[in-house]
Amino acid sequence: MRKISGLRNARLDDGQRLVDLAFSDDGTIARVGRALKFPRGATVLDAGGGLLLPSFVDPHLHLDLAYSLDLLPPNRSGTLIEAIRLWSRFKRTLTAENVMQRAVRAIHDEVSYGTGLIRTHVDVATAAGLRLCEGVLAARQVCRDFCDVQVVVFPQDGILRDPGALDLMREAMRMGCDVIGGIAHNERSDEDSRRHIDLLFDLAREFDADIDCHIDETDDPDSRCTEYLAARTIAEGWQGRVTASHVCALGSYPDVHARKVIDLLAEGGVHVVTNPCVNLHLQGRYDRYPRRRGLTRVQELLAAGVNVAAGQDCIRDPFYPLGTGQMLSVAHMLVHADHLSTPALLRQAMRTVTDSAARAMRRRGYGTRVGCRADLVVLPAQSEHEAIRTCPRPQLVLKNARQVLPTSRG
Ligand SMILES: [Zn+2]
Repeated sequence: MRKISGLRNARLDDGQRLVDLAFSDDGTIARVGRALKFPRGATVLDAGGGLLLPSFVDPHLHLDLAYSLDLLPPNRSGTLIEAIRLWSRFKRTLTAENVMQRAVRAIHDEVSYGTGLIRTHVDVATAAGLRLCEGVLAARQVCRDFCDVQVVVFPQDGILRDPGALDLMREAMRMGCDVIGGIAHNERSDEDSRRHIDLLFDLAREFDADIDCHIDETDDPDSRCTEYLAARTIAEGWQGRVTASHVCALGSYPDVHARKVIDLLAEGGVHVVTNPCVNLHLQGRYDRYPRRRGLTRVQELLAAGVNVAAGQDCIRDPFYPLGTGQMLSVAHMLVHADHLSTPALLRQAMRTVTDSAARAMRRRGYGTRVGCRADLVVLPAQSEHEAIRTCPRPQLVLKNARQVLPTSRG
């Protein structure tokens, strides 16, 4: 990938101004301004007035599952429960090599749409062992020059109901994974769900790691794991280091209880990741009509100051047959799913797959300011609104000031 010294005619600040950017040798943004001077022979690209954004961030993906759809029997009920069962049987047979190949393909897809940073969950249930983790870590290594991948150790089949999973989580962290994952609602009782969350904090302390827990991914208004996660976050002093993924039940709670939980999430600085494509697809499956959308309360969380990000979650797997890895289309879907239609809310929708997602992952140096990494994308659009409306492919993708797309020699 060739090194780029700068960029001309890039549209910044939601299309408000055209600027040039100069990059440092270390791959960061050195200068932003009008009509910048470059040394003779410097490689400077013309953005042609295209919209400049920091690379997209996918804060919730399952690389070990990607492109497995055709390898398994069909999910006839379309529910999360049937998907977990199908996957639990199938994963016993998987090799690390097969996981790596599918994961590399999915990372390439994401990058082709301008993603530069991915947080993936990797299944370390006892039926999976550490083979899936090996495959995903190998894929991260293969793709390291053009995409950063953060790996969450994910006990898909629970911790208490899958004895041995806790040891595998620990082992996977020692292998180089980054974040403690969980699936609190997938235990046998409310008591076990709370114990599950306690164990996540024990591990987080042991490894000084952040937590990203699948939680309350159900329409059941009595699924109450999220409040406990937020309360523990505050009690443990882990504010800003915990992400609650999905949080669908919040959408089905009575308003008075939802208010309590949203306030707790705000107090705990808990990030919320919603996965609009997959939750529109998986939730509401036990409803007749009208069917619930199944998402968390995005607008109410935002209004309370909770950091909300959005993920792709799945690409062609037993949980969800579609998915492309295009974060713009995830934002596009979110606009529909929770009515983010005013100019301010459209901007918020773009944040869910850029700044807010980077913040949930505690990524430093993310953005288009001087000093940030030159992990950038240029879109053929005049504004963020137009980009979300048309979901174009990027015309240029840079990673550490190197040209990823269109592919170049040198
Ligand atoms: Zn997930």
